[in-house]
Amino acid sequence: MNVPLVLTDFLDRAVSIYGKKKALYCDERSFTYQELNERVNKLSHGLRALGIEKGERVAYLAGNTIEMLEGFYGVFQLGAIMVPLNIRLKPEDYLFILNHSESKVLLVDQDLYHLILPIKNRLTTVQHIIVHYKEKDNQEINYDEWIDIQPETKFNRAELDENDICSLLYTSGTTGNPKGVMLTHRNNYLHAFGAMHHLRVSDRDVYLHVLPMFHVNAWGAPFYYTLNGAAQIFLRKATPQAIFNLIAKHDVTAMHMAPTVLNSLLQYYEKNMPEIDSKVRVVIAGSAPPPAFVTRVENELGWEFIQVYGMTESAPLSLVSTIHGHLSHLPIQDQYRMKAKAGHSMVGSNVKVINDYGDEVAHDGKEIGEVVVRSHGVMKGYWKNEEATMETIRNGYLHTGDMGTVDHYGNIDIVDRKKDIIISGGENISSIEVEGILYEHPGVLEAAVIAVPHEKWGETPHAYVVMREGHDLTEQDIIAFSREKLVHFKAVTGVTFVDELPKTASGKIQKVHLRDEYWKIQGKSGRFV
Ligand code: ATP
Ligand code: MG
Repeated sequence: MNVPLVLTDFLDRAVSIYGKKKALYCDERSFTYQELNERVNKLSHGLRALGIEKGERVAYLAGNTIEMLEGFYGVFQLGAIMVPLNIRLKPEDYLFILNHSESKVLLVDQDLYHLILPIKNRLTTVQHIIVHYKEKDNQEINYDEWIDIQPETKFNRAELDENDICSLLYTSGTTGNPKGVMLTHRNNYLHAFGAMHHLRVSDRDVYLHVLPMFHVNAWGAPFYYTLNGAAQIFLRKATPQAIFNLIAKHDVTAMHMAPTVLNSLLQYYEKNMPEIDSKVRVVIAGSAPPPAFVTRVENELGWEFIQVYGMTESAPLSLVSTIHGHLSHLPIQDQYRMKAKAGHSMVGSNVKVINDYGDEVAHDGKEIGEVVVRSHGVMKGYWKNEEATMETIRNGYLHTGDMGTVDHYGNIDIVDRKKDIIISGGENISSIEVEGILYEHPGVLEAAVIAVPHEKWGETPHAYVVMREGHDLTEQDIIAFSREKLVHFKAVTGVTFVDELPKTASGKIQKVHLRDEYWKIQGKSGRFV
């Protein structure tokens, strides 16, 4: 029997086993899974009444809220496609994504509605805008009033196939324009099974949604924590203080966040020393290379740290650095060294590192090649971009654009993005490795290293540094420090001190903007793009 793997199964299971469990907390409100299901049904009825049909796009612009969770399942029941929007974009970016995805309905949080107003009249396909928590009188539909009048009856679901697209996610835009990634029910379903195995998700978990739910890195969480009937806490604005408050209030057990957010959490902890007696069992970080300090989370806070690697195009995770339990046959020192690496293929993924000839690199931890992925999570393709799809998925593998090495245990270490590697006098320098050294300096709060042009060497590493409060560093201090710790050709040759670094909504440093200044050629910026 061929049962289609569709995401609506996940909510069904939560309702049938955990229906009466008070499990969902958002602001001051709380809901059972049964109540969630009722809200989901009402939303599906409402969207159908607005004329949304299978395959059509519904866009969502909101922070982490219960409405967003019901949005996922409400849209899936219709067989429609969810287009979650990053909350930190500019109005013109929303115009591009909404028109490009040909979205028909936009659901938006009142706090973010002002971002849509300037472009509202230029939207070509959006027919309805529905606003949550609407206070002021505007012309849009008020979500709560609209949901209230929808029938409570069971929703007659669209017939779903596992290869139907359920989400259209735009990439972070770290390296250029965001691309629309088409993920199917099957992609997300099987990815969820792999992820929940490695993260050891269970109904005892209390998951705090720190990482934005609109972003692919948090993307699996609303699926596998729901499937397991875990409690879920929705955090609209992630500040260290709010995170610590919720950890204490709800006995949070698991969180997932960008390394930069984890860094600020650690800073806050060290400065304020809150009396913390938490139940957190695991904190997961990925989406960008975690600087070495994050392992302090284990020693100081006593939280297990798991590094994950993934990208929008693979739904997203494909590598995971599970240490405790999974690699227990190895000597303890080796287990800990591996924590700093992206790890090994997740269940359901086959990740390789290949050289220019398509052969696997030696498992010596030295030879660098491109990371390629074959997995159940690999996308159907880029929306309306056949050419980019064919360039990215070749010979059955997703070409990630990330460079890595493999050690003799088969663990993959992400060296750098192809575009971020610095090539100096013919030598490859990982910007991540140099940043890791700079983070060891007590006066460095954040660091980003980029290639700058150099007459003799072609390129050399240049650091952008955010100084920690109470320190007074000079360029020479940083240069001397990096020369002391690194072989000389890897040491930085210049430093720019800044108050903050440009970041994407999920906290990734956008080096493309830092490179702009140095690589402007005839109005064009960037050296490879
Ligand atoms: P765009 O494709 O629009 O430039 P993006 O690549 O940042 O943006 P995402 O799909 O959100 O968009 O991010 C995937 C990328 O994040 C990976 O290709 C990789 O470069 C980086 N990344 C994710 N996890 C890790 C990790 N554990 N270590 C190093 N880099 C990581
Ligand atoms: Mg990318």
